[in-house]
Amino acid sequence: MFWRIFAYFSAHSLAATLGWFLGAWPGLFGAWALTGAVWFVWESVRGARLLAWVREPSHETTPNLRGFWAELLGRIQRLLRERDQRIAESEGRLAEFLAAIQASPHGVVLLDSDARIEWCNQIAAVQFGFDAQRDLQQHIGNLVRDPVFLAYFASADIQQSVTIAGRNSTASRPVRLAVQLHPYGEGRKLLLANDVTAVEQADAMRRDFVANVSHEIRTPLTVLSGFIETLQTLNLSDAERKRYLALMAQQSQRMQNLVSDLLTLSRLEGSPLPGVGEWIPVASLMAQCEQEARALAALLPQLQHQLQFEVANPASLSGVHSELFSAWSNLINNAIRYSPAAGKIVVSWAVLPDGCGEFAVQDSGPGIAPEHLPRLTERFYRVDRSRSRDTGGTGLGLAIVKHVVQRHGAELSIHSSLGQGARFVIHFPSERILQTQSERLAA
Ligand code: ADP
Repeated sequence: MFWRIFAYFSAHSLAATLGWFLGAWPGLFGAWALTGAVWFVWESVRGARLLAWVREPSHETTPNLRGFWAELLGRIQRLLRERDQRIAESEGRLAEFLAAIQASPHGVVLLDSDARIEWCNQIAAVQFGFDAQRDLQQHIGNLVRDPVFLAYFASADIQQSVTIAGRNSTASRPVRLAVQLHPYGEGRKLLLANDVTAVEQADAMRRDFVANVSHEIRTPLTVLSGFIETLQTLNLSDAERKRYLALMAQQSQRMQNLVSDLLTLSRLEGSPLPGVGEWIPVASLMAQCEQEARALAALLPQLQHQLQFEVANPASLSGVHSELFSAWSNLINNAIRYSPAAGKIVVSWAVLPDGCGEFAVQDSGPGIAPEHLPRLTERFYRVDRSRSRDTGGTGLGLAIVKHVVQRHGAELSIHSSLGQGARFVIHFPSERILQTQSERLAA
C-alpha cells in the first residue's frame, strides 16, 4: 500500500514538474489532473475486472492482476475456496442424513409450514402412493385423502397416532398404516408412517385364537357342570348314573385332547427347526402308525373299516420322530374318523424316482368341497363342526400337520372333491431321505 501511495504521489510530482517547465501554473495543474485521471481510469479498469470475476468466479477466467489487486484477488479466492468447502461439507452431511432417513423402515415426509411436501423417503412414497419427485410441493391433504387422516391433520391434538389404510390396501390384502405428525422448526411438520398390518393381523389372530379356545373349553365345561348338578340334585338309578358318568368322561377327554393339541402346537412353534441328523426307519414309523390306527379302528367296530399299509421302498427319513409320528397319525386318524362304515383307508410310503419321499393317506370318505381346501389347515377350521366334535376332533389336527411339514422342509397337498374321498400327501425333499444299498435293491 505504501508503495502505491508513494508511486501515485511520485507520478503527480513528476507530472507537476514537467507541467511547470511547460507553462508554469496552468501546465502544472493540467499535468497533475491528467495524471490523476489516467490513474483513476487504470485503477477502475482493474477493479472492474476483479468485480466481474467475483460476480462469476471461475478458474478459467481468473484475471491477471498485480500488486494490490493481485493480493485482493488472492484473498477473495481463498475466502471463496473456504466457502465452497463449507458448502460441500454441509451438502455431504445433508446427503448422509437423507440417506439415513431413506434407510429407515418407516415412511418419513417433511412438510413445510403450508403443509406442502418438501421431501419424502421411498418407503413413504410407496405407503402413500406418492411420486417422490413429481409430488414435491404438493399439499399433503390433496394426496392423502383418507377422512381419518384429514380430520387428524386438521385437529389440534396430534399427540396420538391414527391408523389409516395404505395406498395399496385391498379387501383381500389390507395395508394398515399408523401415522403421526411431529411439529418442528417454524410451523413445519414431520409425518411418520409405520406399517402395522402384521401387528394388527397378529392381534386379530390372537383375539380369534383366545375366543376359539375359550369357546372349545366352555362347551364341554357347561355339559360337565350340568351333569354334576344333575348327579348332586337328582336321585338317579345306577344305570342312569353310569350313563351320565360315561358322558362326563367323554367331555373331559375332549378337553384333554384340546389341551394336548394346544401344547403340541406351542411346542412346535417354540422349538428350533429339526436339522438333518436323526434318521428314522420309515418301516418302523409306519408300523407304529399302523398299531395306533388299528387300536382306534377297534374302538369303532361298528364302522368295519378296511385299513391297508404299504411301504413301496424302505428308507430312512430325517427329522424329529415324535413330530413325524404326530403328523402321520393325525392324517390317519382323520381318515378313520371321517370315513363312513366299511371305508377303505390306504396309507402308503414311496421313494420317488427323483429321490424325494412321499407319504400318503387315501380314504373313501365324504371328501371335501374345493372351497374348503385352502383353509383346512387353519386352527379350529372345520368343514362339518358336529361331525368333528362327535368324533373327538379338536380342529387343530391339520394345523399340527402343517407345522410339522413346514418344519421338515416338506409340503402338504390335499386332493379331494365332494363324495370322492380324500388324499392327503406329504412330499419330503430328497435331502431328508436315505436309502442304503440293500434297501435300494429290495425296492
Ligand atoms: P378335526 O379335529 O376337526 O378333525 P382337523 O384339523 O384334523 O380338525 O381337520 C380340519 C377339518 O378338515 C375337519 O374338521 C374336517 O372337516 C376336515 N377333514 C380333515 N380330514 C378329513 C378327511 N379325511 N375327510 C374329510 N374331511 C376331513
